[in-house]
Amino acid sequence: MPPTKKVLLVFLPSESGVDGARSLYSEKEITPFFRWFNRSLRTLIKQSQFAIPPLSLMILSSLEVSGIEQSICDMRFEEFPWQEKWDLVGISVQTGMAKNAFALADKLRSAGIPVALGGAHVTLFAESCRPHADVLVQGEADDLWKEVLTDLAAGRLRPLYRSDSFPDLGRSRPVRKDALIKSRYFTTNLIQTGRGCQYNCDFCNVHLLNGHALRRRAVADIVSEVSRFQQDDHRIFFFVDDSINADPAYALELFQKLTPLKIRWFGQATTTLGQQQELLETFANSGCQALLVGIESIEAKSRSAHKKNQNRAGELVRAITSIREAGISLYGSFIYGLDGDTIETPAAILDFINETKLDVPGINILRPTPGTQVFERLREEGRLLFDPLDITAYRYSFGQEMLYLPKNIPLDAFIESYSALTRQVFSIKNALTRGMAAPRAKSAVMLFNLFYTHLYKLSRHDLRQQREKSPAQKTILPYAE
Ligand code: SF4
Repeated sequence: MPPTKKVLLVFLPSESGVDGARSLYSEKEITPFFRWFNRSLRTLIKQSQFAIPPLSLMILSSLEVSGIEQSICDMRFEEFPWQEKWDLVGISVQTGMAKNAFALADKLRSAGIPVALGGAHVTLFAESCRPHADVLVQGEADDLWKEVLTDLAAGRLRPLYRSDSFPDLGRSRPVRKDALIKSRYFTTNLIQTGRGCQYNCDFCNVHLLNGHALRRRAVADIVSEVSRFQQDDHRIFFFVDDSINADPAYALELFQKLTPLKIRWFGQATTTLGQQQELLETFANSGCQALLVGIESIEAKSRSAHKKNQNRAGELVRAITSIREAGISLYGSFIYGLDGDTIETPAAILDFINETKLDVPGINILRPTPGTQVFERLREEGRLLFDPLDITAYRYSFGQEMLYLPKNIPLDAFIESYSALTRQVFSIKNALTRGMAAPRAKSAVMLFNLFYTHLYKLSRHDLRQQREKSPAQKTILPYAE
């Protein structure tokens, strides 16, 4: 019998955000004490409840192929295990961390270790990944990865694995958690009920990556997975679907069947839930503690400019109030800097947050992700601030960096108004008040608000630094192609 081949699946941290907030612009220049303080705070943030395992790697590591043994390396918590011998290393590549993924891949390959790259970035930009990989996995990998492992066992790896259709999620694929070190994470109870989104928001790549058709897993499979997960981790469940109420009849059946299991759960939904009374009650009864809703904009002009059409702005207040009255806390995510926004928008956002009593507001700057419709439009309009061909420049951050010129607001005024807004919304006093007032998950609400108080302070600092370090006399100029 040939020896077992060892495969390592690697997840890399992003440069900032929930993986451990850090300054993107000036960390090297601050004093040793602040460097130490920031490092300690980052570790605390990671360990104090925000890190969740990479679900995609949980799914892949659950695949069983004879002659193959798989493990996971989460580099948010550990160094790459160079001392061991690996027959294949698979790296999940997101655009915001592609630079680091390529650097690791290059180092591995020069040490003679074969590398497979997969993930969103590979799906959208396969050619830019080609020089860094022995194997590319393009598209949702549920079935493709099994082919890779089978071919590895047989010694006949191919350079490209891709499929022209999406995997059938109705087929049973039990997810296992044996490859995880559970104590590292806020929870290991991650469940995905389906993929795809019927909407077409121009700043989002979900519909590009997973298609417009909703694909659902079988309700019975999910109920059995929840019941199995519950036995070895009693913590909260996180339903990672972008919109858990996208198919209301399916969601109603699922959560009615989950109610007897008495779990507590978080998820993501659209505000339409406020008008889906039976589903809303079912969510609350089945243990829903908090939901993230993408409000994005309360400006009608911005919603239509970016094809965010699933809720009319006028219905938002009523919908949010209904959800909170049902006993579910809400994280509401906004984007400031959309094409219909004006200098008056921050005041309107502030009024909206106060009126709805949102438990955790998240106020983002538009982040044009390469591959999305908005990225191409901003490029055509000459509004991008970095080289559009250097797609790794469009990294992930938490409002710490301007990547484009807003349409109706001069850049300096935009940065000033964004900074003033986040200063007003996030303070220790507001964090405590919101935590106390939250319908459920009070301590999580308080922790998130405290975390954001720190993060948005970092955002104000970095935006100032970006401006000051700009070579053109403190004015950030668009990138000239
Ligand atoms: S932002 Fe949400 S609703 Fe819009 S396309 Fe993306 S996943 Fe769908």
